[in-house]
Amino acid sequence: MKIKIKNGIVLDMVGVPERKDILIENDKIIQIDKNITKEADETIDASYQAVMPGLINCHNHVGMSIFRGYSDDLELQDWLQKAIWPIEDNLKADDVYYSSKLGCIEMLKSGTTTFSDMYFFMEDVAKAMEETGIRGMIGRTILSEGKEADKRIQEAEKLYKEYHNKAEGRIKVNVVLHAPYTCPPDVIKKGIALSEKYNVDIQIHLSETEKENEDIQKEYGKSPTQYLNDLGLFSRHCVLAHGVHLSEKDLEILKDKNVGISHNPISNLKLASGIADIVKYRKLGLTVGLGTDGSGSTNTLDMFEEMKVASYMQKVLHKKASCIQAKEILEMATIEGAKVLGLEKEIGTLEVGKKADIILINLQKPHLQPIHDIYSCLVYSAIGQDVDTTIVDGKIIMQNRELKEIDEKDLIEKCNEIKEQYFKKIV
Ligand SMILES: [Zn+2]
Repeated sequence: MKIKIKNGIVLDMVGVPERKDILIENDKIIQIDKNITKEADETIDASYQAVMPGLINCHNHVGMSIFRGYSDDLELQDWLQKAIWPIEDNLKADDVYYSSKLGCIEMLKSGTTTFSDMYFFMEDVAKAMEETGIRGMIGRTILSEGKEADKRIQEAEKLYKEYHNKAEGRIKVNVVLHAPYTCPPDVIKKGIALSEKYNVDIQIHLSETEKENEDIQKEYGKSPTQYLNDLGLFSRHCVLAHGVHLSEKDLEILKDKNVGISHNPISNLKLASGIADIVKYRKLGLTVGLGTDGSGSTNTLDMFEEMKVASYMQKVLHKKASCIQAKEILEMATIEGAKVLGLEKEIGTLEVGKKADIILINLQKPHLQPIHDIYSCLVYSAIGQDVDTTIVDGKIIMQNRELKEIDEKDLIEKCNEIKEQYFKKIV
């Protein structure tokens, strides 16, 4: 199957944006040039569109989509203990499947083609990924201690064996350790061993709140970063979610390691966790991507919103509007995100030989015109709803904002049935 995308403004995230054509064969980009004359099975006229790599969401809990809007404006501990955990305790595999599917189509419809995820009933998340066509890195969350932790480690290994590289290679499975405050040293070590056994990455929440830092300091006499470093975690490639409260000493440890940070600005603001100084992290040479976190704390999985907020937060933090540029933000949502997930050889830019994960953004809209700078237009003016076409692995998933193979209405109904079954207004 060959697809030609014709005459769009191509932001390949390598060179300068230019009008070009892109030729896709099966799952890969095989040519990017002006006026490609070769025939294709399908040609998309992109004359009024921006064409760019699919966005990469580095941190999510897609099974939480049914929590959207359920427990807003609560303190973090109340949010978890009174609102989220009591419901999660009752959820069944099917509920997580439908919830994940809703999150997957929300992402695909707002331009995200790859995401990183940690939750439970991950086989059902994988099933939702298989059916919707999205790409992602997933893992069964490991936490707790003793037999409880061992049970989760077994489930994590089972998920790897069943789903790693499945769905034409779109699904990657890695090791997920929940956080320093939920994983004692022996569990962290078992997680590292599992990651070494299968040579896969590790995802972990890190220094999301000041309280987490204080608790770990009290228990182990060191910061969460030092705690994990002493256990040898950073000998593996790690995706570190949040990293809001990192000291100079922590950054000194992390800067030479093969780790990436998922900055999740809206979740950090909404839960009042704090502001990660990503301008500083990037100056030190750390790789920073963007993520949404789950819909329970972020409400939408629209990476265009995350891009705007990420930029504005830094401007306020540094009291300097020029401290971060629109182009850098777009890099974080694409190629830098790919590096965070260790997938930069496959995705994150539009280049010959890379996977055809491509989005087209309709620029013929009042809120996007006139265009002085295409990066500014996409970061500060565009919203997820402006994405017109989404291609993953060379397959058109959405065109003219219509999903090709998924019955959206049916799925929304199903999720509302789950809502009726479990959720009562809490406070
Ligand atoms: Zn999270």
